[in-house]
Amino acid sequence: MKLDLLVIAVHPDDAELGCAGTILSLVAQGKKVGIVDLTRGELGTRGTPEIRLQEADAAARILGLSARENMGFRDGFFRNDEEHQKALIVAIRRYQPDIVITNAIYDRHPDHGRASELVVDACFYSGLRQIKTVDNLGADASGLEQEAWRPKLVYHLIQDRYIKPDFIVDITDFYEKKQESLLAYKSQFYDPKSNEPMSYIASQEFMEFLRARAEEFGHVIGVKYGEGFTVDRTIGVKNLFDLK
Ligand SMILES: [Zn+2]
Repeated sequence: MKLDLLVIAVHPDDAELGCAGTILSLVAQGKKVGIVDLTRGELGTRGTPEIRLQEADAAARILGLSARENMGFRDGFFRNDEEHQKALIVAIRRYQPDIVITNAIYDRHPDHGRASELVVDACFYSGLRQIKTVDNLGADASGLEQEAWRPKLVYHLIQDRYIKPDFIVDITDFYEKKQESLLAYKSQFYDPKSNEPMSYIASQEFMEFLRARAEEFGHVIGVKYGEGFTVDRTIGVKNLFDLK
């Protein structure tokens, strides 16, 4: 299934934290969007891998995703090496996305920066036809040799640590639904009834921080809420009036 946008991020909920508003905005425009989570987040303080998979499914329904899958890489210990790149190339070639969004270039969690480098490399190598792959992953696997495919652009979301964005997407109409997609991760985020140990992201203050960050990015472009992104190369626009 060809997708317009594929978000590839290391922990289930990274995509929602960094770019759920952008996803919702694109789905509302009729674009096909999918998420590939690299790990099950099994080193997380709260929840279990099984619970987090169910939560990721629930969030996928809220976002209106066309596809979501989990690579099953080892949380914390995956590497940017041939084995992991080739597994990701299979996913990239299967979905043939025009745009890929991945983790922040660096962040509080060291997995984020490493995942971002892995995804950037896999997107490039996916375009090399001498790297042969067969789609043998998951229920939709065709078992056929795949065509080379390189996404036109790779963007990096901004998650925990502040990074100055290269551009900001207006998500004003989608912020409340973004929050709904985050709250689908009941084990991870603020829940006054939870008996699980407190974690960095489970406090009420963290939800307030998320809204403040979205307000800050929105403020810069003169709207209520925004999501910021960085890009490795200079981006262009056909119509100057598309910029705000
Ligand atoms: Zn993460």
